[in-house]
Amino acid sequence: MFPHQPIWSNTRINLLQRCPRAFVLRYGLAQLSKHHAQGKLLTLAFQIQTPWVLMHQTIRQVVLDFVEDYVNGTIWTKGLLYSRFKSDYGEAIKKRNHLVRRLQSYDVPTTFLSAEPEHHLIDMGVEACWNLIERPDFIQLLKTGSIERIEPTKSILYGNIRMYCTPDFIHYGSSRTSLIKLNLYGRPSKIEQERQASLLTIHESHESSVIQFSLKQRRWTVKITTPVKSQRTQAMMLMKQDVEQMDSMYSQVGTNNDLSLVPLADSYRSCMNCNVRFLCPTRYGYENAKVEQRALMCL
Ligand code: SF4
Repeated sequence: MFPHQPIWSNTRINLLQRCPRAFVLRYGLAQLSKHHAQGKLLTLAFQIQTPWVLMHQTIRQVVLDFVEDYVNGTIWTKGLLYSRFKSDYGEAIKKRNHLVRRLQSYDVPTTFLSAEPEHHLIDMGVEACWNLIERPDFIQLLKTGSIERIEPTKSILYGNIRMYCTPDFIHYGSSRTSLIKLNLYGRPSKIEQERQASLLTIHESHESSVIQFSLKQRRWTVKITTPVKSQRTQAMMLMKQDVEQMDSMYSQVGTNNDLSLVPLADSYRSCMNCNVRFLCPTRYGYENAKVEQRALMCL
């Protein structure tokens, strides 16, 4: 049913692990039927982010704008940072509300509501940006050498797999190149950080260092790694296994796009913030939907 298109990204594998059904809807069905009403509806629903996620996306955006301005000689005050953040976050919320209105026009029973930019989220976002750009190790990076900002949509072909795993920016110093990554949704475990670092070095020379700044409970931590060959090989192997897992999940989709054999989430918690719950059998009760699916799988 689905064209063979091996694509790997953190977002994809995280969604697959959280819920195979949501994964297939987002990256299979929505893509396949993007010119039909159902596909458009799915794409739209998955584009809507919570104000919390938008706040974190704005942190990335504002920090990267700051970095570009800093190396070009413009130093921001905290007041400027605040107004930039407020304006970018306000825009993000406006775009979200527009998507919500478009979705509502489909006349489907979604629970999405319009939102307002909340002051406490703006304050939280500004603090997170300020705490990073005030760090001596962060500023030190910007004082010498040059930087290149990398768009998250940039991909790289590894064998036949298209990989989306980019640093946020690259720092070219006199003696070494560093790939800088901002992890905004908590500090990844040691193994996850090593794996991320190994995948990032595919983009540049293998000798590059990877500097990961991670935000957890409003505090930034930093980890500097230079992955060795065995770590890179291991990360690539795991990535291939992820892609096989994705392919095998697509193959569960039956004729006429029948999704009944594509597993639902293992935990009700995954459904609580799911963008497509209004299309999922769990909307009538998680436990019943799981029992029905188990019975179907036993047939
Ligand atoms: S509502 Fe739950 S089971 Fe259904 S797609 Fe979303 S996360 Fe998966």
